[in-house]
Amino acid sequence: MKNALYWVTNDLRINDNTALHLANKSENLLCVYVVDKAWFSPSNYQSKHMGVKRWNFLQACLDDFNQQLSRFNQQLYIVYGDTLSTLNNLCDQYEISRVLTTKHPGTYESAILTKLGDSKPNINITAVEQFTLFTQASLPFELSSLPGSYSKFKKLVIDQALPALVPNIKKLPNMFASMPLTSSFRPDWLPEKEGDGCIDKVAFEGGESAGQLHLKNYFSSMLPSDYQNVRNNLSGWDNSSKLSTWLAHGCISARQVAQEILTFESNHGKNKSTECLFLELLWREYFQWLHFSVGSKTYQFKGLGVKSPLTSFYPERFHKWCSGNTPYSLVNACMKELSATGYLSNRGRQIVASCLVNELSVDWRYGAAWFEQNLIDYDAAVNWGNWQYISGVGTDPRGGRHFNITKQTELYDPYKEYQSLWLTSADHNTDALDSNDAVDWPVSVSR
Ligand SMILES: Cc1cc2nc3c(=O)[nH]c(=O)nc-3n(C[C@H](O)[C@H](O)[C@H](O)COP(=O)(O)OP(=O)(O)OC[C@H]3O[C@@H](n4cnc5c(N)ncnc54)[C@H](O)[C@@H]3O)c2cc1C
Repeated sequence: MKNALYWVTNDLRINDNTALHLANKSENLLCVYVVDKAWFSPSNYQSKHMGVKRWNFLQACLDDFNQQLSRFNQQLYIVYGDTLSTLNNLCDQYEISRVLTTKHPGTYESAILTKLGDSKPNINITAVEQFTLFTQASLPFELSSLPGSYSKFKKLVIDQALPALVPNIKKLPNMFASMPLTSSFRPDWLPEKEGDGCIDKVAFEGGESAGQLHLKNYFSSMLPSDYQNVRNNLSGWDNSSKLSTWLAHGCISARQVAQEILTFESNHGKNKSTECLFLELLWREYFQWLHFSVGSKTYQFKGLGVKSPLTSFYPERFHKWCSGNTPYSLVNACMKELSATGYLSNRGRQIVASCLVNELSVDWRYGAAWFEQNLIDYDAAVNWGNWQYISGVGTDPRGGRHFNITKQTELYDPYKEYQSLWLTSADHNTDALDSNDAVDWPVSVSR
C-alpha cells in the first residue's frame, strides 16, 4: 500500500480518527476534500443541498482540519467540482493503491464509493465505521434484523460496552513530492459569505478545535445534570448540549461524546438527565443504522410505509412556511430562527415539521429538504428519519405526530418571550393559508 488517498468527508478531526491510523500503513498520503458543485444546485424540492450558513461552518472546519494536519507535515487538498471525477483523476495521477474514507449511510456517498470501486477494481477501498457509536459487527443483531422501533433498538444496545477511543496519532505519511496546493480560486457557484448565526450571542464556530473546546466546557459544567429539565425549552444556548453541529461534520465523534457522558457520571453521579442525554445519542445512532438498513427509502414519499401520505405540494403554503409567514406565530418564530441561525431546538423542529404536514398538508419531503439546506447540523439519516417519523411514514409506532400548536405555545412560550425574540412588529400572520379559495377567486386577507 504505497500511495494512499484519504477522501475526507464528515470526519473533520485528527483525534479518534481510525482512517488516519490506517493511512499510516502507507508511504505517501494525499488528504482530499471535494466541495461538490451539486451541493449548491437546487434539489427536487426547491431547496439546495447546502445553504450559506452550513457552508460558512464547513469552511471553518476545513481550515481547522488543515491546520491540524500541518502539525504532521500534511495538508488538506480542497478541490471544487465533481466528487467522482476528482477522485478518479487523483487516483490515476498519484498511482493510488488505497482509498480511505469514513462509512456514511447517505446514498450519495455510497454511490460514489461503488462507482469508484467499479472503475478502479485494483484499488483497495476502505470505508471506516466511525460516524456511528457502534460498528455493524458490534451490534447485537444483524443489520437485516434492525428493530423496527427506537424503543426496541434502545433495549438491545443500552448495555452494550462502549467502544474505546482510538489513540492519538503521532505521525502521518509523507505528502507527495508534487502535492497540489489548494488554489485560492473560488468558483462562482459558491455562496457568498454572510454573518454566522448566534444563539444567546454565542456563534457556532466550525472545526475540531472549537468542537473539542465546546465538548469539554459542556461536560465541565453541571449542565448535563439538568439536561432533561431544560431540553424542551425553545431558546437558549444552555438548554441542550449544542453538540449536533460538530457531530454532523465529524469534528467530534459519537464515541467521544459517549465517553464524556460516562466520565461525567462517574464524577458527579448518574441521574435522569445524564441518562436522557445518552438516550438522545442513541436516537442519533438508531437513525444512522436505519438509513444503512433501508437505503433510498429514507427519501421516498411513502417512506418505510406501503401507502403514500395524503399530503401534496402547495407552493404558496410551502413558501409561507419557509419564510415564517403562516397563520401560526410560534411556527413563524421558529422558522425565522432557523433562517437566521441555521439552528432550531428539537422542540421547535418537531412543531414546525408537524405544522407543515398536518396544518398545511404539504408533502414532508419539501420540509426535509428545506431543513437540509438551512440546518448547520444537517445529518441525512437524522433529518430525514425524524421527518419520516413525524409524518407517519417512518418508525413511529404511533403512526406520526401531530403537535397541537396552541398547546405547545401554552407549554413552551406562554408569555411569548420566544416569539418576541424572532418576530418584529412588521411580521404579520397571514390569516388565510391560501390567497385563492377553492374556486380560485382571490381571498381578501384582513390584517
Ligand atoms: C424534523 C427534525 C429534523 C431534525 N434534523 C436534524 C439534523 O439534520 N441533524 C441533527 O443532528 N439533528 C436533527 N434533529 C434532531 C435534533 O433536533 C437535534 O439533534 C438537536 O436539536 C440538536 O441540538 P443539541 O445538539 O443541543 O441536542 P441535544 O438535545 O443536546 O442532544 C444531544 C445529541 O443527541 C442527538 N439527538 C438529539 N435529539 C435527537 C433526535 N430527535 N433524533 C436524533 N438524534 C437526536 C444529537 O446528536 C444531539 O447532538 C432533527 C429533529 C427533527 C424533529
